[in-house]
Amino acid sequence: MSDTPTLLQRRARLLGPNMTTFYSDPVHIVRGEGAWLWDADGNRFLDCYNNVPHVGHAHPKVVEAITQQAATLNTHTRYLHEGILDYAERLTGTMDHDLDTMIMVCTGSEANDIALRMGRAVTGKTGIICTDNTYHGNTDLVSHLSAKKTPIGGAVEWVKKVPSPDTLTPLGGRDEAQSQAFADEVQAAIDALEAEGHGFGTLILDPFFANEGLPELSHGFLDPTVDVVRKAGGVIIADEVQPGFGRTGGHFWGHQRIGLAPDIVTMGKPMGNGHPVAAVVTRPEIMAEFRNRFGYFNTFGGNPVAVAAASAVLDVLEEEGLMTNALRIGEHLEKLLCQVKHINTADIRGAGLFWCVEFDIDGDTEAAAPFCARLVDEMRNRGVLLHSVGRHYHGIKIRPPMCFDRAQAELLAETLDAAMKALPA
Ligand code: PMP
Repeated sequence: MSDTPTLLQRRARLLGPNMTTFYSDPVHIVRGEGAWLWDADGNRFLDCYNNVPHVGHAHPKVVEAITQQAATLNTHTRYLHEGILDYAERLTGTMDHDLDTMIMVCTGSEANDIALRMGRAVTGKTGIICTDNTYHGNTDLVSHLSAKKTPIGGAVEWVKKVPSPDTLTPLGGRDEAQSQAFADEVQAAIDALEAEGHGFGTLILDPFFANEGLPELSHGFLDPTVDVVRKAGGVIIADEVQPGFGRTGGHFWGHQRIGLAPDIVTMGKPMGNGHPVAAVVTRPEIMAEFRNRFGYFNTFGGNPVAVAAASAVLDVLEEEGLMTNALRIGEHLEKLLCQVKHINTADIRGAGLFWCVEFDIDGDTEAAAPFCARLVDEMRNRGVLLHSVGRHYHGIKIRPPMCFDRAQAELLAETLDAAMKALPA
């Protein structure tokens, strides 16, 4: 039997206080397979939130690749090895334009830290623009961008936050009006950075705005913003930690989905199916400027085992047609989600295997946050794991492993229906 109170106490004593756990009754997971997880008491859960085991928990092909490579060689990255070169060719081959050099690291935070430093290196300007409801990681530099975590020393002048796009309350109006309003906000932030003497260097955003609540965006939504950034001589980073690797179904990368051509792309979470692998991809001249200036070295990033894991993920995505699966199951899931609408449901949106059901109460999204928190717990108690998203955590985020199937989508929808009916509005 799992002893949750003891585990929580040990966690607090050994790992420190204030560690995040999901759910009022945290889950003690001991095993996974595909989209399924089992706890220490043998209970089975459907994992509808986890984009880390991208091709499925404990995928045999990834396990085999890691095991074989670990039994052969795993060392630091100062030796010659073909693995990282083959992988770099393959990965950059998924990009549409001249993004064909790569640094491999271990976390999304590191990737974004490097990308921001690249932006500063090539523009010579320190100013950074991001949205006001984002998360890009937790190095000292990157933590200044986080909406919900306070960086050491508090807010800094060289980071300007623009209102994130939103579906229910779109800035300036719907569609093109919102697209232009977002660009206008970026322009105002650029002007402020220039006036304050920092200068504008870099705009960083997740092209699917996943932490912001995955607002519905038309193709070309960022075109006016790109014009503004280009005119100011800035660099654009697309953080693909969440929408990357085919998650949204129709495109391998989130930026391709909206027709954005970034200068730098960062990625992480799904890249190694749980093995700590992340990367920064950019144009050769940006890479050269960064490498020449900083002589960047990462002990573990892109070591042979990391590369074996990452390569196996690409193999499985291709062999099992998981991007197409995401598209098909996603379409089915959308229909199912639309059938289980609740009085508090304000919007259902997403793409591929990445969905959000947003709630409000009489038009007030913040008021729906307690309902959403109870719903997430109720789902957990009924064996389906998902979590919340949005400015007030007032929506649920659905982001299962890419092998999610029709029956699992149906189980998710049935459970959601039952859980919502069981809760008071
Ligand atoms: N970027 C985004 C968009 C993220 O959601 C996260 C993690 N949630 C990160 C970066 C940071 O990645 P990591 O935790 O691997 O450092």
